[in-house]
Amino acid sequence: MMNIGTGINILNENIREKIKTENIFKIFNSFIIPLLTHEERDFMLALQRYCLDVVEPKVDLTRDVYGIFPVLGEAGYMQRLYPYQDFKPFGMRYEMILAMVLSIVDPELDLARVVSGVLAMNPLYSHGKSDREKRALDDLMSGRKIGCICITERERGSDAVNMQTHAKECDDSTGDVMFDGEKVYTTNGPVADYFIAYGVADEGNPRGSMYQALVERGFKGLETHRLGILSAPRVHIGQTLFKHVRVPRDNILGGLGQGYTNLFRGLVAERNTIIGSSLGISWLSAITGLIYAHLRKQFSKRILEFQAVSFPMAEMLVDLMAATNLGFSAANEYQKIAKYPENVEMVKYNASFSAGTKFLASNLAHRISYEMQQLCGGAGYTDNLRIDKALEISKIQEIIGGSRNIQLMLVTQAMKTIVNMID
Ligand SMILES: Cc1cc2nc3c(=O)[nH]c(=O)nc-3n(C[C@H](O)[C@H](O)[C@H](O)COP(=O)(O)OP(=O)(O)OC[C@H]3O[C@@H](n4cnc5c(N)ncnc54)[C@H](O)[C@@H]3O)c2cc1C
Repeated sequence: MMNIGTGINILNENIREKIKTENIFKIFNSFIIPLLTHEERDFMLALQRYCLDVVEPKVDLTRDVYGIFPVLGEAGYMQRLYPYQDFKPFGMRYEMILAMVLSIVDPELDLARVVSGVLAMNPLYSHGKSDREKRALDDLMSGRKIGCICITERERGSDAVNMQTHAKECDDSTGDVMFDGEKVYTTNGPVADYFIAYGVADEGNPRGSMYQALVERGFKGLETHRLGILSAPRVHIGQTLFKHVRVPRDNILGGLGQGYTNLFRGLVAERNTIIGSSLGISWLSAITGLIYAHLRKQFSKRILEFQAVSFPMAEMLVDLMAATNLGFSAANEYQKIAKYPENVEMVKYNASFSAGTKFLASNLAHRISYEMQQLCGGAGYTDNLRIDKALEISKIQEIIGGSRNIQLMLVTQAMKTIVNMID
């Protein structure tokens, strides 16, 4: 069992015994396995076994999550989107299963893992060619080193394209690029070893002048500071300063203008993984609440026998099953564009599909966690259950990778294209 927190445990013996990850998995599996292929099921069961035997005993809610990264890396669980070494199988559906299962065990750990293992890894896997870039990829996959992505700025959040961070090729024909600027909300940033950073040579032409670079801890002029994000105390989220940081040519993943294309190609993978984490958080809260309501008695009855408790729970499970099916459909669509990247229509469809699903899944994670907390009463507010932790991380899932409105904005763009068909 994990070190559950700092407070005392007030659950009765029976409930304490039954609210364990093994039982949460048991119920989760009865919902999920019918949606999976045999290979996916085997992958998930092996992953759950590893989580119970190896990962969970290392989870300590009083310590940062990063000490667990090497344990994930050892078994090839820093990501499962792409092939790496002999770790099989892989693909977006496997990555989604990984995000769901790890979020059930520890939503905070999975938040940090997704940023390092998928968001920072994806550009290295897709565009990394030099030895330095390959070494960084190996380091991130092993979990020995930590990665982050630096897109958002103090004055440029949703309007991410129009960034102010300056990136300019040095005049000495080395091909090195100088970065100047500030990024904020960098998840993992204050402890990261590798930074996927974006900057523009010309603020008036960000699409045509954006660079994407691998910045390494130790580069002169790189500074990081921690922000006070109270909902995720075990994950460091911060400010990243580039004070005239010289990035060697070998670390430029996307040159002038290519940085923009690379950034936007990566966003669908990012959103899909967040969908997986959001679904995992939803399942964690939903099943924890279900077990608790089944065992908790008031007025000499199990509270699940009160329709005011069981009906909203049933409604949440219906919504969650629908969202999970939709999440797997988004993963299937992702695999199609991975196969046919030149199909522009398909790529556009996928961008709006994944945005809509991310909007729905992350909002559902928050709704289910909040409602389950209410339905469970006081215990749901303590660290005896994992619902409050799930609720806090669901808030981050809803903003990371773009706020709700920005996801909806992507959907409206597709809507306009479709309705134009009748003009
Ligand atoms: C905990 C946390 C972790 C994060 N991790 C990272 C990270 O690792 N790397 C990174 O680069 N960024 C990260 N972010 C940043 C995140 O992606 C941004 O916060 C998000 O894109 C919104 O930007 P903003 O905060 O500046 O809000 P703003 O863009 O100022 O938006 C404020 C409000 O206005 C709305 N709005 C803005 N424009 C429009 C529009 N056109 N139409 C309708 N509504 C609009 C937004 O939806 C929002 O409700 C993180 C943020 C948080 C809070």
